[in-house]
Amino acid sequence: MARRSDRLDEIVSLSKRRGIVFPSSEIYGGLRASWDYGPLGVEMKNNIKRQWWRSMVQERDDIVGLDSSVILAPEVWQASGHLTEFVDPLTECLSCHRRFRADQLIEAYEEKHGHPPEHGLVDVTCPHCGTRGAFTEPRMFNGLLRTYLGAVEKDGEEGGDSGLAYLRPETAQGIFINFRNVLQTSRKKIPFGIGQIGKSFRNEITPGNFIFRTREFEQMEMEFFVTPGTDEEWHERWITARLAWHADLGLSRDNLRLYEDMSYLDAESGERYIPYVIEPAAGVDRCLLAFLLDAYTQDEAPDAKGQMEKRTVLRLDHRIAPVKVAVLPLSRNADLSPKARDVAATVRKHWNADFDDASAIGRRYRRQDEIGTPYCVTVDFETLNDQAVTVRERDSMKQERIGIDGLIAYLSERLADC
Ligand SMILES: [Zn+2]
Repeated sequence: MARRSDRLDEIVSLSKRRGIVFPSSEIYGGLRASWDYGPLGVEMKNNIKRQWWRSMVQERDDIVGLDSSVILAPEVWQASGHLTEFVDPLTECLSCHRRFRADQLIEAYEEKHGHPPEHGLVDVTCPHCGTRGAFTEPRMFNGLLRTYLGAVEKDGEEGGDSGLAYLRPETAQGIFINFRNVLQTSRKKIPFGIGQIGKSFRNEITPGNFIFRTREFEQMEMEFFVTPGTDEEWHERWITARLAWHADLGLSRDNLRLYEDMSYLDAESGERYIPYVIEPAAGVDRCLLAFLLDAYTQDEAPDAKGQMEKRTVLRLDHRIAPVKVAVLPLSRNADLSPKARDVAATVRKHWNADFDDASAIGRRYRRQDEIGTPYCVTVDFETLNDQAVTVRERDSMKQERIGIDGLIAYLSERLADC
């Protein structure tokens, strides 16, 4: 089994090659830590969000949805403390002028040496250029991304801050400021929750690897309001529910870590007590990365001549897989291709389907395995006589002959909830 970091490299390369995730703005030299989701990536992302929304909002009687603005009144961030508290210590290497988070430099030193640096940053070597102890005195840096509304934008001049606004660093505040609106219109009673999916922005000094910790990211957040005193119990319930959700969609329990930042905040209720809130939150982008990392497998499969060859297969849960069914004529042929196109059109009414008639059939199976397509439907010359197709399952590679009439029913049984 490949090491985790090797596997990540392979996934970055697969993602670019097959249209899952592209480096953003690449034709203009790129923008660091910025990624675009390609045709397959957007399908996966939408699948993840759909599953989350179903389980967190639609299947529950005690949770409703919301879609609030990215830009809120600046007073919201004043009140929430983000203007003053949402800060990181920033330092700059005087030799290479790279900027770092001072706390992360210290942590990295401690991890390597087993103890914190005795004289602080003076003992730390620049991770970029290797110069030791050439860091500036850390200053606090606010992670909110600024923008300006309206026509005035004269930074530094008198009145230059008018129109200053912020892109939200989390979707939660949009939920809190709508608490009363939602309570009154939905006629819910505590305990109840409000769920929201959307983009958030943080001006990270040191963005992370690939789509992990980017400045622009998408969150799936739910704020669950409870009566004080019942919070411990609800907290436990939500931890169990969220772990179960990830595991149900195919993440290995061994790779699931629980971060106890399901925070308690208070919100104004208009009732006699201030409810506590439990916040089960997840990141869409990191979720997608976790699914890719866990699904990425290499095994062996027979080629056209029966020789075993290596195959890469994404063993994604069917609900997450970007393409559910691929329809493949055995070869590109004047009779087979139109027949296969008809089958693909029928399948497409139900699921995201692919049609491919380029290159040898074995290679096309490999291409579908590589993107995690659960079922390949092959149209061959026999199909023209018996009106049946061969359905091949991704993981077992088992093949079954199914009449075209019964194909949708056959797939429906196996692609439930997709
Ligand atoms: Zn440096």
